Amino acid sequence: MKNIIGAIACLLISYAIAIGGYMVTHNCDIEDLKTISSQDKNFIIVLLVAQTVIVWSYFFYILAIRKRNEKTLKKEENRLILQQRRYQIIIDNSGEMMYEISLNNDTCISTDKIREKFGWDIPRQVDRLDVKKLFEILHVHPEDEELFYHSTSGLITNKMTKEITVRLQKTDGAYLWCNIIYIPLLDGDNNMVSIVGKIEDVDSEVKEKERLEHQSRTDGLTGLMNKQTFEEEAMKFLMTSISTGSALLFIDMDYFKDVNDKFGHTMGDRAIRDIALKLQIIFANCDMVSRFGGDEFLIFVKNIPRDTLLDKLNWAVEKLRETYSNGTDVVNLSASIGVAYCMADKIAYSTLLEAADNSLYAAKELGRCRYIIRDVYE
Ligand code: GH3
Ligand code: MG
Repeated sequence: MKNIIGAIACLLISYAIAIGGYMVTHNCDIEDLKTISSQDKNFIIVLLVAQTVIVWSYFFYILAIRKRNEKTLKKEENRLILQQRRYQIIIDNSGEMMYEISLNNDTCISTDKIREKFGWDIPRQVDRLDVKKLFEILHVHPEDEELFYHSTSGLITNKMTKEITVRLQKTDGAYLWCNIIYIPLLDGDNNMVSIVGKIEDVDSEVKEKERLEHQSRTDGLTGLMNKQTFEEEAMKFLMTSISTGSALLFIDMDYFKDVNDKFGHTMGDRAIRDIALKLQIIFANCDMVSRFGGDEFLIFVKNIPRDTLLDKLNWAVEKLRETYSNGTDVVNLSASIGVAYCMADKIAYSTLLEAADNSLYAAKELGRCRYIIRDVYE
């Protein structure tokens, strides 16, 4: 309707201009128009008809173009709606915990799977979304805060896909190890408009990895540190810290074979576990206790005054004396201890081990159930 009124107005204006133009060029007024020649009259009529045809043709042309644009827009709109629905169906049925956080209007969308897993939802609207808000929204473990901040800030500046593994809290308070994947969504001008991402529950994988790692570092029978780990840790300490006044103890049980022979291997295993427990009590705190293998144990005591070390060694020899009896057979178990005492810094682990081994040999030679200390200077 508006368009028709516009076209009529244009037409009337063009008529007025044509007639006005005639009046100005022929120096006459409205009254004079009644007496103009039939030739001029015909000329004016042809002019007005031509104007009418031009204006209406133009009007219909514009109308047709507009109709065509509307059709194209509608088509595009439908295509977008379809695409959006298809995208929604795919993520809803993927069984994945997916989300999209828009950076332009601080809105978020997420799949129901997130609520099913954690008990909370990602809110649909967030005021001034930033890394801190994201940290709260995802209920990240406080201990993972630094890693989360570092990675997420990096994502926003670098516009690159990122993946981090952090713990997320469920509403029941428990934490789950999860992979958070962020994929920046860039527009045609390379501006990041939103972050699309996925949360994956990797709790059992991470815990299994931790378990295997722990297993590879410990002795299966006693749960003590194994030989390799002990060696690595002791070397690290000797290389990086002041080690003067530290001691390496090499313990070998006396006549341990008799426990196996007289009471069986199971009893022997139990005795090894008992010895491990006793050693953990004597050398608690920061000392490193490990099972070297068989009935042998290695202990590294960091920075200990000689008097205190002697007290501990006396206590150990006493505590590790044990009598096993079943009424007929008796085994008196005891321990021999070879000690290498660091008298300087940066002494090689192999030097200390050799000195401790020699001391142990000497203790055995002197009749067992005792300790021998050897000072190592370099
Ligand atoms: P010594 O006084 O000279 O040290 O003699 P020993 O009888 O203690 O024998 P030795 O230290 O030479 O050998 C340790 C023995 O410990 C050998 C083996 O029979 C036993 N043994 C080694 N590993 C295990 C184990 O895991 N479980 C049990 N039950 N016995 C073990
Ligand atoms: Mg032995």
